[in-house]
Amino acid sequence: KQSHHYAISPYYNQGTGLSSEARAHLGLRGYSPIAVETLDLQKERALKQLRSKSTSLDKYIFMAQLRNSNTRLFYKLVCDELAEMAPIIYTPTVGEACVEYSNIYPFLGAPGTPDGLYITINDLPYIKDIVRNYRENAEGAPDITVITDGSRILGLGDLGMNGIGIPIGKLQLYTGGAGIDPRKTLPIVLDFGTNTERYLNDPLYLGLKQKRPADPEFYEAMDKVMEALYDVYPEILVQFEDFSSEHAFGLLEKYQNKNFCFNDDIQGTGSVILSGFMNAVRVAKEKTGLDPKDHRIVFFGAGSSAIGVAKNILTYFMNEHGFTEEEAKRVFYLVDSKGLITQDRGDKLAQHKVYFARSDNEGAQFKSLCDVIDYVKPTALIGLSAQHQAFTKEAVEKMAANNKLPILFPLSNPMTNAECTFDQAMEYTNENVLFASGTAFPPYKTKSGELKYAGQGNNMYIFPGLGLGAIIAKARHVSDKMVYEAAKGLSSTLLPEEIAQSDLYPSLARIRSVSAQVAVSVCKQALRENLAQDPVLLNLASSSTNFDQALLDYVTSRMWDPNQADYFTVPV
Ligand code: NAP
Ligand code: MN
Repeated sequence: KQSHHYAISPYYNQGTGLSSEARAHLGLRGYSPIAVETLDLQKERALKQLRSKSTSLDKYIFMAQLRNSNTRLFYKLVCDELAEMAPIIYTPTVGEACVEYSNIYPFLGAPGTPDGLYITINDLPYIKDIVRNYRENAEGAPDITVITDGSRILGLGDLGMNGIGIPIGKLQLYTGGAGIDPRKTLPIVLDFGTNTERYLNDPLYLGLKQKRPADPEFYEAMDKVMEALYDVYPEILVQFEDFSSEHAFGLLEKYQNKNFCFNDDIQGTGSVILSGFMNAVRVAKEKTGLDPKDHRIVFFGAGSSAIGVAKNILTYFMNEHGFTEEEAKRVFYLVDSKGLITQDRGDKLAQHKVYFARSDNEGAQFKSLCDVIDYVKPTALIGLSAQHQAFTKEAVEKMAANNKLPILFPLSNPMTNAECTFDQAMEYTNENVLFASGTAFPPYKTKSGELKYAGQGNNMYIFPGLGLGAIIAKARHVSDKMVYEAAKGLSSTLLPEEIAQSDLYPSLARIRSVSAQVAVSVCKQALRENLAQDPVLLNLASSSTNFDQALLDYVTSRMWDPNQADYFTVPV
C-alpha cells in the first residue's frame, strides 16, 4: 500500500532521488535505473530536456507533465529558475495553452491527479460532492482556490472551460513565489458555457457546448458555488480571476466583506502599481526635489483596471500626504477613447468614470494625448488603454520637457498592446525616466554602455504574499487596507543597491523573501483591524519582544520549500 503511494503519487514521487535502502523498503527495487541522484542533479537533467524543446507550448506541456509526475522536482525548477519558468508556466505561454487547452489536454493529467476541478453549471445540485472529490489529490483542506469562469482570460476573451490553465498557473506561482503547500491548492474552472463560436463548433472542445447564462442565473449559480466551497472548506481563501469586468466588480462587491476572498485583477493590480508608484514619488522627490503634493497624473485609458489603480493611488495621497478626498481627486486626469473625461463633455459617462470626471474645465475639449499633456502638464503618465504605441515620441518628449524625471507607466499587456517600449521611453527622455511596464521588456543599453532594467508592475509581486499573509492570519476577510498594506510592504523590500539605481520594484529572483515581507504587512494589518484569528499569530502579537522578527520567522516557517519538503526516509 505504502509503496503504491510513493510510486504513483506525484507529490511523494522522488524518482531517482529515492535511496536504494528506501527502494528496498518500499518494494520499489527495479522501478528505476540504479543511479541515486540529488535534487540538483535531477534538476539539471530536467532543465536540459526543457531547453531542448523548440516551442513555448512544448515547454508548457513538458512542465505540466513534470508537475504531474514529480511535483517536488517541478517546484525545484520553478523556485530556482523563476525568471525562465514564469513565462512558460504563466504569461505569456499560459495564454496560448488556454487557447489550445482542449487540444493538449490528454497529455497533461495523470490518473487520479486532476489538474483542477471542472464544475459545470449543470453540476450545481451535487456540487459539494465534486468539491469533496478533490481530497484525492491533497491532504487536509485546501488553503486556497483560484477560480475563474473563463469569460475574460488575459486579453484573449471568452475561452470557456479552456480557461482552467489560469487557476492552475496562478496557484503554481503561489507555491513557487510564496511557498503555499502545493497539496493545499485547488484550481477551479466554472464551466458555465462559452459565447465563443469557434469553440461551440469545435468537435475537440471539451467544455459545455452552450451559451453563457444571463446575469440573474449567473449570480444565482455563483451563490451556490460559494456556499458549497465554504460549506466543505470553511477556511478556504477564494481568489477570483479573469471574470469579465462587470461580473468581477459585482462579485467582489457582493462577497468581499462577507467571505474570505479577493480579486487579483482588480485588487492585485491596484496594489502592485501603487507600490511602484510610491517608489517613483519617493525617487522623484530625492532626485529632483518634486514635492509629492505637486503630482498631476494622467491616466490614458479609463477601464476597469485604470479605475482600480487610480483609486489605490488616491488612497495613498490621502493616507501618506494628508490630502482630503476632494484634494486627492484633483491629482487625477482620466482619458478615454473620447479624450479627457469631464463632467461637461456632453456624453453620458459610464458609471465607473463619474467619480474621477473633472469639473474644473468647463467647455474645454482635450481630445488627443498631446492636447491633454499640454493642458495638464502631468508629472506622471499611466497607460491602461491596450493601445499599442499610444505614447508617441511627441507625447513622451513633452513629458520630458515638462519634468526632470517623468513617471511613465505603459502598463498594457501583452507587449503588442504596450503604449510604448522601454527603449523608446529611455530614448525620448534622454534616459531620465521612472519607468514601469506591464510586460517584461529587454534591458536597455545606455549611451555610457550600462545596462538598465525596466520595472515590471507584475501582479506576481503581490498576490502570492497577500494570499499567504491572509491564510496565515486566518483573516475573517481580505480588507482593502490589507491590500493597501501589501503595496506598502512590497515598496519597502528594495535593497540598498536597488534604491541606489532608482529601481521601482525588487528583483523577481527574490520573490520568496519579497512575498514573506508582503505577508508580514498583511498579517499586521489583519491584527490592527481585528480580523486575524490564528492563535499562534495572536499569541506572538501579545507576547513577543521583537514582534517584527518573530512574525517574519513565523511566516517563513510556514512556507513550503521543495528543498526541505518532508519526504520518505527509511525508518530506523
Ligand atoms: P478596458 O476595461 O477595456 O479599458 C480600456 C480603456 O482604454 C477604456 O477606458 C477605453 O476607452 C480606453 N481606450 C481605448 N482606446 C483608447 C484610445 N485610443 N485613447 C484613449 N483611451 C482609449 O481594459 P482593462 O481591463 O482596463 O485593461 C487595459 C489594459 O491594461 C490591458 O492591456 C491589460 O493588459 C492592462 N493591464 C495591465 C496590468 C498590469 O500591468 N499588471 C493589470 C491589468 C490590466 P472607452 O472607455 O472610451 O472605451
Ligand atoms: Mn487575471
